[in-house]
Amino acid sequence: MERLSRRTLMTAMAGAGVVLGTAGRAFAFSEDIPTVRTLALHDNACGATASHKELVAEVERVLGDQYTEAEKRRVIATMTCPICGCPLSGFF
Ligand SMILES: [Zn+2]
Repeated sequence: MERLSRRTLMTAMAGAGVVLGTAGRAFAFSEDIPTVRTLALHDNACGATASHKELVAEVERVLGDQYTEAEKRRVIATMTCPICGCPLSGFF
């Protein structure tokens, strides 16, 4: 598995910022509930399970000791994978 680049991480964190910035506003579109088939397609696209865990670990490392575990989890809960768009909340 290729190590996630800083650019990928920053893209994901920017996505989290967008989510935080728009929370509470109405969304213009709704998300589909992923089926087993779409989850499998996503897994093929970015190696979802492994790369998502790696992305979460990288975020935790970047946030370091400046934040509590609860704060880190709140940040990660708002993040989505920059490749497949799946939420990362289930990977910590
Ligand atoms: Zn992904």
